[in-house]
Amino acid sequence: MRFDPMLGGGSGDGKLLKAIWDELNEKPATYLDVPLFRTYMERMTQLQITEKLAILADAAKYDASCASSGTVKRSSSKTGGIGSTEGMGICHAYAPDGRCISLLKILLTNSCIFDCHYCINRKSSNVRRAKFTAKEVVDLALNFYKRNYIEGLFLSSGIIKSSNYTMEQMVEVARSLREDHDFRGYIHLKTIPDADPELLEAAGRHADRLSINVELPTRAGLAALAPEKSQDRIEGAMGGLKTSILDGKDAKKKYRSAPNFAPAGQSTQMIVGADAATDSDIVRRANGLYDQFGLRRVYYSAFSPIPDASAVLPMQRPPLMREHRLYQSDWLMRFYGFAPQEVVDAAEPNGMLPLDIDPKLAWALKHRAQFPVDVNSAPKAMLWRVPGLGTKAVQSILRARRWRRLRLEDVGRLTVSITKIRPFLIADGWSPGGLTDMEHLRAMVAPKVEQLELFA
Ligand code: SF4
Repeated sequence: MRFDPMLGGGSGDGKLLKAIWDELNEKPATYLDVPLFRTYMERMTQLQITEKLAILADAAKYDASCASSGTVKRSSSKTGGIGSTEGMGICHAYAPDGRCISLLKILLTNSCIFDCHYCINRKSSNVRRAKFTAKEVVDLALNFYKRNYIEGLFLSSGIIKSSNYTMEQMVEVARSLREDHDFRGYIHLKTIPDADPELLEAAGRHADRLSINVELPTRAGLAALAPEKSQDRIEGAMGGLKTSILDGKDAKKKYRSAPNFAPAGQSTQMIVGADAATDSDIVRRANGLYDQFGLRRVYYSAFSPIPDASAVLPMQRPPLMREHRLYQSDWLMRFYGFAPQEVVDAAEPNGMLPLDIDPKLAWALKHRAQFPVDVNSAPKAMLWRVPGLGTKAVQSILRARRWRRLRLEDVGRLTVSITKIRPFLIADGWSPGGLTDMEHLRAMVAPKVEQLELFA
């Protein structure tokens, strides 16, 4: 058997191929008996994995479920500098115990039989495709984990062959990590709503968190931009997960040995700016999802124009600040006691949250009759509503005022901007007088334009 070096390898492999050629011609053998040939094959396989990793980690960056957002694009790839705000591959997420952890964030494959208009991986998209086997993902996760690069895995996928087939592969990754390798790190699986409930059950037994994307805020938006998806099927699957998560928690309370089911709960993601939904629509929808399915998080992802975009999509991405304002409104509902209607009240008449000021400040400016509040006597719920006072600052105020009366300077030490707080607060030695009702108050307290550009 003769070995032909022309059969494979790029120019960088020339020396290795020549050595294999010499060895084979000296001692004819089967290819696999030649150690150098084995080395070559290993290197080729490794190259393929690296290439796949580049494609599938890049394709996963569009999923916002564990990405940081709200800053300008910067990359050092062409300047020789260090760092990038658009990096992919490893992302950060918060574990249930509050720790910030690094996750390997990849797709199993970026091939897909669906054709969602907003998605770069859709069937009709002209992108390079790649697919990992379940074993390759397991090996990658273990290798990165052992080198201390990551503390867990975030795995999503396009749909190949069928929803069940794809889900089986994803479950196999989680199963193998847990059962074959006793992997104790964090696993977040993006689940496919059309897959059989048994597969979603199996996913929940191995993963810490499951998520199903609702994709778009309205039924009409989903029908227009993801015609193969169905809101009813998505919500049916989320309802099933909610039941299993609650059952899992109950069982755990009764029997410590009961198996876990997605102990970090479920989350979802909505694309912002790809359809006509307003911020008010999005806030109401998010609130409904929290109530109905007990979600841990709703993530918002500003739609970004993709290569070969479908004609039904807007030409421009929405301002990133819009995504940021939606996260702030989400925060108001979850941690500051705001009802969804109050957040919607902060929106402009066109249903959009103002971009120049945060939604708490917008609400306060519209409800000035409720201010100023006395920092030395106001209840916690009212202090939470003061623009510029975060939950930690309020906690410190409540603790400090048990021992002494607070002055404006004391509060100033707990916040970023005393200018924002002054019109809404009474403290020892300070009363805003007519400041609260001043006509130009908004212009006075709005952040300067240069600061806005950090996020625009
Ligand atoms: S199913 Fe998912 S991966 Fe496939 S086109 Fe739709 S959004 Fe993209």
